[in-house]
Amino acid sequence: MKRIGTAILYTLTVMLVGCGAPQRVDRNSFHMGTWVVISVYNTRHAKYIEECFTLLANLEAEVSTNIPDSAISRLNSSGQARLQGDLADILRAAKLVSDASGGAFNIGVLPLQRLWDVQNRLDGEQPPTQSEIDIARELSTTGIDISDDGDALDVQLQKGRGLDLGGIAKGYAGDRCAGQLKENGVNRALINIGGNVRTVGDGEFRVGLRNPRGRAEDLFGLVTVGECNIVTSGDYERYFQTDGIRYHHIYDPETGKPARSGLLSATAIGENGAFADGLSTAIFVMGREEGLALAVNMGYDAVVVTEDYKVYCTENIRASLEIVNDEFELVSD
Ligand code: ADP
Ligand code: MG
Repeated sequence: MKRIGTAILYTLTVMLVGCGAPQRVDRNSFHMGTWVVISVYNTRHAKYIEECFTLLANLEAEVSTNIPDSAISRLNSSGQARLQGDLADILRAAKLVSDASGGAFNIGVLPLQRLWDVQNRLDGEQPPTQSEIDIARELSTTGIDISDDGDALDVQLQKGRGLDLGGIAKGYAGDRCAGQLKENGVNRALINIGGNVRTVGDGEFRVGLRNPRGRAEDLFGLVTVGECNIVTSGDYERYFQTDGIRYHHIYDPETGKPARSGLLSATAIGENGAFADGLSTAIFVMGREEGLALAVNMGYDAVVVTEDYKVYCTENIRASLEIVNDEFELVSD
């Protein structure tokens, strides 16, 4: 149904535009486990959106752990690979964010993700036992060796280990789409990969920040930015609830459990999509103070929402951030 709806929307947009002034065209497609919406601001650029969807499908075939014969799945089952290209670039970015965050961002999180399996658990189901968590935590934080000779990456995984790019691949993909659109001469576009937003081109963009306790379209704020990535991690994307506890999909490698750092969401804003994506996940794990400090150290901006609906941000972005929902309060400290 959604696809039909999109087709109708697209046709209508084109009809309304006719031969007049350039107009915005939105198209969507499902990739990397989420809905992707790409907008261009000139009907002549609409054809390049399809090229982005093809790029995303190809990238997904490399990096998705849900596709059994993807390059990453083959690496995870064989335990070793020599990597170049996109996968190597994503792992290089992951290593940088992992080192900068003291391991809060952890590319080896697959055993924990498989154990918790939050997207397939129903409300009321019991979480894994402490001994199961201890085993998966050990597997997620040891036994991974990645070396880089500048040309390629050599990856060695000990038994039971696995890489999970879910916390970084969408941000990387946003930059790849942006690069391709620009090569095609697209001067203004907006790429939204399941809430990972990449702006393309000159001028300003107002990007909504999602209310972590609202519906998908409810915002708590707006940021006005130039060309960059705006990536949010939150506890509302995938979770199950049992006995009043929300078990979500971002794990603290120190506890092996869904991170409880006092945040409902963490948004990272900056130039490199993979860094911004990895950083948003890391900030969510680390919490407000450490997370915002990490963003500043990396030269990125960040906006976090705490459990008491307070909003904190890095100094640099404050003037560009507008709170649009009275339930939330911007705290200046
Ligand atoms: P989303 O994918 O919902 O936009 P994130 O970017 O924060 O949100 O990524 C969450 C995904 O990252 C999880 O589904 C899991 O695959 C992976 N992940 C979970 N915890 C961590 C972690 N501590 N470090 C790196 N990746 C993680
Ligand atoms: Mg992320």
